[in-house]
Amino acid sequence: MASPDRPQQPDARSAAAAAAGAGEGAGDAVVPTPLPPTERFAARTAGMTASEIRALFAVASRPEVVSLAGGMPNLAALPLGSLSAEVAELIDDDGLSALQYGSAQGVPVLREQICEVMREEGVEGDPNDVVVTVGSQMALDLLTRIFVDPGDVVLAEGPSYVGALGSFAAYQARVVHVAMDEHGLVPERLQEALETLAGQGITPKFLYTIPNFHNPAGVTLAHERRPRILEICRRYGVMVIEDNPYGMLGFDGQVHPALRSYDADVIYLGSFSKTFASGLRVGWALVPPLVRDRLVLAAESATLCPPTFTQMMVSRYLAHHDWRSMIKTFAENYRERRDAMLAALETYLPEGCSWTVPDGGFFVWLTVPEGVDTKAMLPRAVTARVAYASGTGFYADGFGSRQLRLSFCYPTPERITEGVRRLAAVLEAELDVVRTFGSSARRELNRGPQGPRPDSI
Ligand code: PMP
Repeated sequence: MASPDRPQQPDARSAAAAAAGAGEGAGDAVVPTPLPPTERFAARTAGMTASEIRALFAVASRPEVVSLAGGMPNLAALPLGSLSAEVAELIDDDGLSALQYGSAQGVPVLREQICEVMREEGVEGDPNDVVVTVGSQMALDLLTRIFVDPGDVVLAEGPSYVGALGSFAAYQARVVHVAMDEHGLVPERLQEALETLAGQGITPKFLYTIPNFHNPAGVTLAHERRPRILEICRRYGVMVIEDNPYGMLGFDGQVHPALRSYDADVIYLGSFSKTFASGLRVGWALVPPLVRDRLVLAAESATLCPPTFTQMMVSRYLAHHDWRSMIKTFAENYRERRDAMLAALETYLPEGCSWTVPDGGFFVWLTVPEGVDTKAMLPRAVTARVAYASGTGFYADGFGSRQLRLSFCYPTPERITEGVRRLAAVLEAELDVVRTFGSSARRELNRGPQGPRPDSI
């Protein structure tokens, strides 16, 4: 029987026991109304919302819709025949290990190979400091789990990667965005944000940044800004998490020096999702030794160990295939698509639109004329058979209603051109309404779109 000073657990078990008359005095117990599971969620789950892109997925993946919304890597160039032989050999040669549990930190030989991959970007890492994760998304989630208490501030570029914002929300972080321009994160804005927070007695837990071929902004952090940003963070005692899944997908063959190559205290996240195969779900974190053990414990509690099979598959691929030339082929395919998108934007988009010009990666970030709300416009775009990701999903604070993200990674160049042509027609129709009723009328209609922040792309 429940003690009077302990709240009764209104769960189905106690209700059933009471109903069955089980236990001493059960007949006198007040039978609580069983709560539905939705009433039992932990408070921290309140911030978990479906990403708009996922919500749109069903409709955007209809064949007649040109989807410029999702960021699916284009895997068409993968040598499926030899990968299939590699899988067969993996089972023949190492089946019993590949199909077994492994180390929570990841397969040792793969961790060594990961250090070789990172060397391409000037990063000297120790395999002992690499933690293999189920995609770099898991590394992001675990790092947030081990560093962020509810209400803690984290800094992120504005806009920022929607999956990172999802993890930050799940652990109840308060995200403070820092503006970017066409050269990436603006050091002066970072300094100002840290100054303001310091004035309130707040030290952010970390800066989360995507220096290369940003998702969603498409811009790359200028080299001269890199040491400045690290210096500012050092001065204010702020840790840096560098997320770099696109770094090797530059269109002019240039590989930008990782922030981690300047400073061994930077936490570096990498992934094979864009340089090999996203479905294998192999990513990693390179962390300072003081962070490693806590991260491995968190990883163990999440998955016991990352999948041995896919790690060994990646390891064999790196050992037996010319992965560098595969990455070049991927980048060439993406460059062709980027060119198609930029040409179409130039040809079709109405006056008053501006967009970033990416030198790598998957995304263009588009700003539309005042009065147009990209979230409100999305259903009309989908009706016109084109999908995009509206800007507000990439901010934690409601900004971004005049922006949208266009992905050029997946569709053919012809489909990209057609998609942009359709988008331009939808935008023209929106602008007609703005011209007829005035932008303030439109703003009201769409619940207050905000322009970009000062300096912001
Ligand atoms: N970071 C960024 C910036 C991304 O764009 C993505 C995937 N879209 C990830 C992390 C996660 O990638 P994965 O988990 O596949 O490694």
